[in-house]
Amino acid sequence: MPELPEVETTVRGLRPVLEGQQLASVEPRRLDLRFPFPPDLRQRLTGARVTGLGRRAKYGLIDTDRGDTMIFHLGMSGRWRVDPEGIGTHDHLVLETGAGRWLSLNDPRRFGFVELVTTEALPAYPPFAAMGPEPLGPEFNAAYLSAALAGRSAPIKALLLDQRIVAGLGNIYVCEALHMAGISPTRAGGRIGAKRLEGLVAAIKDVLVWAIEAGGSTIRDYARPDGELGYFARQWRVYGREGEPCSCGRPVRRRTEGGRSTFYCAACQR
Ligand SMILES: [Zn+2]
Repeated sequence: MPELPEVETTVRGLRPVLEGQQLASVEPRRLDLRFPFPPDLRQRLTGARVTGLGRRAKYGLIDTDRGDTMIFHLGMSGRWRVDPEGIGTHDHLVLETGAGRWLSLNDPRRFGFVELVTTEALPAYPPFAAMGPEPLGPEFNAAYLSAALAGRSAPIKALLLDQRIVAGLGNIYVCEALHMAGISPTRAGGRIGAKRLEGLVAAIKDVLVWAIEAGGSTIRDYARPDGELGYFARQWRVYGREGEPCSCGRPVRRRTEGGRSTFYCAACQR
């Protein structure tokens, strides 16, 4: 499932193909994904020039010179294909640039979606309106996190997954960062000292940067026709490794609440 690093590597992979380019054609190939395609998508984007690409949490952003931003979410299985050799049943939105490059948004499970908002109205787009800071941005630091967690008795893991506290962190990265920082996923958020919060913030940034860099190198490998952007293989410290040895030698444990698994080491994380 695409998480923040996959969305970031996708945006970085799309940038050289799209930035500064006019959109020669914009073709939705069905009416909806998770939500309907905006009915005026083709009309508003065809002929527009892409002025920039960005990311907010797990949402990709494509700005145009007409003052619109196309928002894309990759859902469970979405990916952009660059210059695909053919268009198949799972290619749901196809773009052609003025330079003759092709992009297709491929999503077999169709949990992704595309929205179109004016760039000016982007901060008020409902998922963004109450969203906390980007984890890689300067506003996400130990002082901020300490204030956000003050008095909170909920487990730190649940609080880090709360998009109002920090944007775009998913289960994998929260498990990994808590292990790196040596903090138990069940510890009350408000009961973690300043020094340990500093370590936690550094661990969150490190694990994301590492994943983005790993994805970036994959994109270079895939910089060829039919390349699929944004996915890469990884070796996790605890995630998905129940029963395998932690770096300390003890087995990684798993607990499940509400259908979501937490992987951790009871010896290394307190
Ligand atoms: Zn351990």
